Amino acid sequence: MGYTPYYVGAVWTGYDIPQSLSAFGENPSLLVWDLIMTRLHQKYIDEANAGGEPLRKFEVAPGVITATYCRDSGQLVADACAHDPRQYRAEVGYFTRESVPKTTCQTHVMVLRDQYTGGIAYPATTCPSWNCQWTSLIRVENRSFPTEVYVVDAQYVYREMPSWATPAYWSGVAFFRNLLKDGEFCGSSYAVRPYNSYCVEHGIWNGWSPSTQTTDTGTADSGAGTSDAGASSDTGQSAGSTGTDGAGGSDGGANDDFEDWFGD
Ligand SMILES: [Zn+2]
Ligand SMILES: [Zn+2]
Repeated sequence: MGYTPYYVGAVWTGYDIPQSLSAFGENPSLLVWDLIMTRLHQKYIDEANAGGEPLRKFEVAPGVITATYCRDSGQLVADACAHDPRQYRAEVGYFTRESVPKTTCQTHVMVLRDQYTGGIAYPATTCPSWNCQWTSLIRVENRSFPTEVYVVDAQYVYREMPSWATPAYWSGVAFFRNLLKDGEFCGSSYAVRPYNSYCVEHGIWNGWSPSTQTTDTGTADSGAGTSDAGASSDTGQSAGSTGTDGAGGSDGGANDDFEDWFGD
């Protein structure tokens, strides 16, 4: 659903049977909406470009103010938001004086990440400092599913590790995977090496590993695009090689993933 000063347009995309749309990288409704609306407005754009009537703009109602907010928290952007590898987490919104966000983002958390292995350094001192770069993840503590499900931003999620917890010693899962109970899942982006995986290459613990857990690997399909660092991967699960099954069967698998990381 979207509108301009000229038209209102709505596009719905779906199957008439229950089926996931996750095969689409981008929202197909958005693409169709954009295509049609662009064509509908072409004559106004051409006219304006030819010096005719300028393109109409919405009038801003009195009392409406703009503020730049973080898409993940809805709060005002903080420095940490800008370190999100997906970039562009800041958005301009329209608010009233009452509804405008008043606190800065508490969701983005700065963490050190080993940019050569592609794993989170935890504690920060486990990785060589020259490997490490500050990045930010989003603190989401309440995702809990009875089975693994695809969640587009799962690989950017952060959870606070209590002092007793050890990071997951497997590069195919989030570093905080050990915090989950048996049979509990927090969603997956189906990346071979999730952005929030632990730097097992330098890590010193051995906690959760795939051999000690019964996983139903819903992850087998969709060749997990090894969405590398920055890649604006809202569309994280496109294409990608299906060369490996992504679930390196043992701790040895970590090395396979490691090679994948450098593969391209
Ligand atoms: Zn933020
Ligand atoms: Zn490291």
